[in-house]
Amino acid sequence: MEKDIVIIGGGLTGLSTAINLKKKGFNIIVLEKTDRLGGQIQTFHENDFVFESGPNTGSGASEEVLNLFDELSTECKIEFAKKESEKRLIWKNEKFHPLPNGLWSGITTPLFRFSDKLHILGEPWRAKGNNPNETVAELTTRRLGKSFVDYAVDPFLSGIYAGDATALITRHALPKLYNLEQDYGSFIGGAIKKVQKDKNQNKSQSKKGIFSTNGGMENLIKAMIKYIGKENIMLSCENIATKPNTDDGTWKTSFKQNNQEIELTSKHLITTVGSYVLPEILKFIEIDKINKITNLRYAPIVQIAVGVKDTGNLKFNAFGGLISSKDNEDFLGILFPSSCFEGRSPNNGALFSFFMGGIKNAALTELSDYEIEEKVVKTFHRMLGFPASKEPDLIRIFRHKHAIPQYEISSEDRFNTVKKLEKSYQGLHIAGNLRDGIGMAHRIIQGAKLAEEIK
Ligand SMILES: Cc1cc2nc3c(=O)[nH]c(=O)nc-3n(C[C@H](O)[C@H](O)[C@H](O)COP(=O)(O)OP(=O)(O)OC[C@H]3O[C@@H](n4cnc5c(N)ncnc54)[C@H](O)[C@@H]3O)c2cc1C
Repeated sequence: MEKDIVIIGGGLTGLSTAINLKKKGFNIIVLEKTDRLGGQIQTFHENDFVFESGPNTGSGASEEVLNLFDELSTECKIEFAKKESEKRLIWKNEKFHPLPNGLWSGITTPLFRFSDKLHILGEPWRAKGNNPNETVAELTTRRLGKSFVDYAVDPFLSGIYAGDATALITRHALPKLYNLEQDYGSFIGGAIKKVQKDKNQNKSQSKKGIFSTNGGMENLIKAMIKYIGKENIMLSCENIATKPNTDDGTWKTSFKQNNQEIELTSKHLITTVGSYVLPEILKFIEIDKINKITNLRYAPIVQIAVGVKDTGNLKFNAFGGLISSKDNEDFLGILFPSSCFEGRSPNNGALFSFFMGGIKNAALTELSDYEIEEKVVKTFHRMLGFPASKEPDLIRIFRHKHAIPQYEISSEDRFNTVKKLEKSYQGLHIAGNLRDGIGMAHRIIQGAKLAEEIK
């Protein structure tokens, strides 16, 4: 079989790339190892609860995200989170407290030390850093103060990276934050100037909202599959391996499907799998080069969907609650998806997503289902405030060994190695979340940009 482009991996990156390439008229094929598409994205429906095993929300609905939903508008609809989602909670001293969003709440919040509240007033005048490899903890301690790192930055990073603020490199992990300081000299001043600049350029603020898909994230995947066409997708492809054909500049991709050996020839080869999968697919690359990509660390996460049919008097009008690693709790945080999106729980009920593990507490992801359930029920009472007589009506556990790649000190070497390999092997594109960002919006943007680059 001959194709213009072979795409390996049928997660959000692979499907987004496929849609954009198909739109440009390329003859593509997506090869997926498992018997389903969507990768980390999967939605479940059970007893009037709609819950995700992977991502619950995408943040920053960029132009590319909106374009994708526009293209698929007859099959699925983007759903922006309700106003309540702007409220974020942080656990401290046996209670969830709202993250301040104004001057008064900033002064009165018990989350930060008084000395740090005074210190932050001087943030706009603090000197700009000059270490490009400053970690998020170093940069934010310098500009904001230790208690802001403990009760804002650390839980925020748990929510996004399940990572370690002392290891994530700001310019790779949070480039927007890094650039605020570099471009404007200050987080506060920079954020104000940026809002003003966006307003002047008529950029809609709503584009920056939190999004999901009506009825669950997997509806986006189903719509993407329909657009790409089942004839351009192959599932259950075993032992995929590729090699460049130096004689004519094409790629040979071989694999097994239903016990049949298949070989494809293509002009371009795009990988969208995790870094740990690359050695088996790109066997022709020298070990010292591939090691610079495979040394990427991934945070393991267990996500637990917890449903309650009737919350009684309890209200959960917020995006969710995050927990500082300083507090040594069992969970990274608890999201409230039913407060953000329609139809995720029965009318008087609620759906929660508990997160456990991450880089700092990887051992917790090895606990048995029974042990995890015990911790969930204890926390359901203690942190969410349900009475002892009340039990969750639904508990489902999802384990992700390679949940979130960590953009740590190895990142620059990895990005450069990818660029060098792509230059050495014409037609090779190493994509996926090992570069260009870890979130869903990043994956959609990468697919769109990659399609632009391919001639
Ligand atoms: C628990 C959890 C919560 C998350 N929460 C959020 C969130 O709130 N917001 C957000 O923006 N992002 C979140 N993310 C990240 C988001 O899910 C990812 O950015 C995105 O789904 C990654 O898509 P991908 O296609 O790059 O990778 P994947 O989804 O991992 O897809 C890779 C695909 O490649 C396939 N594959 C693997 N090996 C092979 C092989 N040898 N041959 C062929 N195919 C192969 C896999 O089966 C898979 O289908 C979360 C992730 C997890 C795990």
